[in-house]
Amino acid sequence: MSDVWETCPRCKSDKVVTRSKLFYFLLWFACGGILLWIGLLVFWPMLILGFLFIIVSLFSFMMPRVNRCTDCKHKWKP
Ligand SMILES: [Zn+2]
Repeated sequence: MSDVWETCPRCKSDKVVTRSKLFYFLLWFACGGILLWIGLLVFWPMLILGFLFIIVSLFSFMMPRVNRCTDCKHKWKP
């Protein structure tokens, strides 16, 4: 659900989804956690990648939310 909703500025489609920053934070954080586990158990350079993903997740949490058009894949800030 979104409180900021508008049509796509590129193709005027109304199939627009708003991804919250929490979604991106959890996505990056989950990927980072998985990579850390792989790094600990299997392949140590994955630790570095895992830390990078978690840093990115913290940055994505500070970023404003983004609208995305499902028709033309255009992304923009509401
Ligand atoms: Zn579009």
